[in-house]
Amino acid sequence: MGKIAMRPVERGATPLDPDGTPIAFGHYRDARDALIDRIGDYCSYCENVLPSKVDVEHVLPKVHHPELECEWTNFLLACDYCNPVKSDTDIVLDDFFWPDRDNTARAFAYEKDLAPRVADRLSGKHRAAAQSTLELTGLDREPSHQKYRPRDRRWIKRREAWGVALESLRDLRANDTEAMRRAIVRTAISRGFFSIWMQVFEQDTDMRLRFIKCFQGTAPDCFDRSTRSVQRPGGRI
Ligand SMILES: [Zn+2]
Repeated sequence: MGKIAMRPVERGATPLDPDGTPIAFGHYRDARDALIDRIGDYCSYCENVLPSKVDVEHVLPKVHHPELECEWTNFLLACDYCNPVKSDTDIVLDDFFWPDRDNTARAFAYEKDLAPRVADRLSGKHRAAAQSTLELTGLDREPSHQKYRPRDRRWIKRREAWGVALESLRDLRANDTEAMRRAIVRTAISRGFFSIWMQVFEQDTDMRLRFIKCFQGTAPDCFDRSTRSVQRPGGRI
């Protein structure tokens, strides 16, 4: 099935106002709730559930691209770890993979007890883009990483989610009912880390289809009917 990480999302077109015209956001913060509504209450990079105090993330930083400050297609959501790590770094979009345009599930690998890394299947330019994306977001910073700071608890959250997902898998094996399946999906969406749930339930297509459907805003065209991650239409991977 392949290892996956960084949920690909579908942000969709600019939301419409009641008259049916695309909303022109006066301030980027005004887009936050619409964004959460579209792509779920999760960090677009590390997949953690967002904290209560969250801001809109600009893919291209607003300092360098003031014209994109209120542009819907430049918005994602980031937690208070990923956001400051990525910061105002001036970047070229094509040097990285993005969860709203590429099938980022194919770019990285999550494995239990290991830091996220570039997926084995990638080579050349794709490998470089995936590596740059890891560095930009600091997603692979665990205590052994040179740039790790103790404040960064993303790796702990990730491990906790693995633990809960594995426990859920054991519960399902002991008692495989529709109610149990629904309860596990509720646990998953409230805890976040889509990719970890997808991986732990690797052998269970039914559960994986539920995760794809129930994690708000997961790009459906990034997975085939058997939930294998596939090349994203219009994306580079
Ligand atoms: Zn994050």
